[in-house]
This record gives sequence, structure tokens and C-alpha cells, in this order.
Amino acid sequence: MTIFSKIIAGEIPCYKIAEDDRFFAFLDINPVQPGHTLVIPRQETDYIFDLSDELIGEMMKFSKRVAAAIKQTIPCRKVAMAVLGLEVPHAHIHLIPISTEGDMDFRHKQEIPADEMAELASRIAANFS
Ligand code: 5GP
Repeated sequence: MTIFSKIIAGEIPCYKIAEDDRFFAFLDINPVQPGHTLVIPRQETDYIFDLSDELIGEMMKFSKRVAAAIKQTIPCRKVAMAVLGLEVPHAHIHLIPISTEGDMDFRHKQEIPADEMAELASRIAANFS
């Protein structure tokens, strides 16, 4: 079981943004920017491009809805999207609110106090539709 499957199962806590029968979205624990969100499929697959055409398409549609909620909540020019997958072997899309290129630097991760993370998550979740 991957660490992300444990998050879905509720065995590891997270700051949840949204979920449906196939996908789950939650704040990255070490965000590149406040509001940095991960979208994952419930299905445990390491490499995103191993997902079926159907599932990767649906994952993009779910991510679009999450990105809209982030954009509505966090002041930014755009919500950027990235897939790395070097650390956790469970496919995930990073959604990061940015205003400049430098806002998306994976070498500089932040630690945000728990109360602020919880508040961010609930504000983004409230804008998810
Ligand atoms: P990647 O696999 O795309 O290189 O990076 C994995 C991302 O998952 C990192 O940005 C890291 O901060 C995040 N991450 C790793 N473990 C956890 C965790 O237990 N909870 C949460 N919320 N994020 C995690």
C-alpha cells in the first residue's frame, strides 16, 4: 500500500480538498506555494502514463475542478500543473498557484503551520464544485 493509499484510507491524516469515487485531492505536506494540492487516483499505479486513457482523461477533468477552486481561493495568475513522481510511487498531479516562473521551484519547499494548512484546505474545499 502506498503512502497515498494510506491517506485515502484515513490511516494517515491529510488536509483534504475533495474526493469522488475515483479521485482524491489534498494539500501537499511540503508545499512549493500555499495551496499546493495533489490529485491522485484511488487506483494504485506508480507511473501516470500507465493509467488507462479513460482514467487519465477523467483525472484531468477532476484536476480542472480542483484548479478552479484553488484559483478562486488563492490570489495568483494561474494554477500550474506538474507531474514528477520521483518520490511517491502513486501517480499524482501537482496543482500549484503561481504568478511567476520562480513560484514553481520544487527545490524550495515550505513548511506551513498546521492551523494555516487546515484553514487553506477548508477554504479551497468550500470553493470546489
Ligand atoms: P513527487 O513524487 O512528485 O516527486 O513528490 C511527491 C510529493 O508528495 C512531494 O511534493 C511531497 O511533499 C508530497 N508528500 C510526500 N509524502 C506526503 C504525505 O504523507 N502527505 C502529503 N500531504 N504529501 C506528501
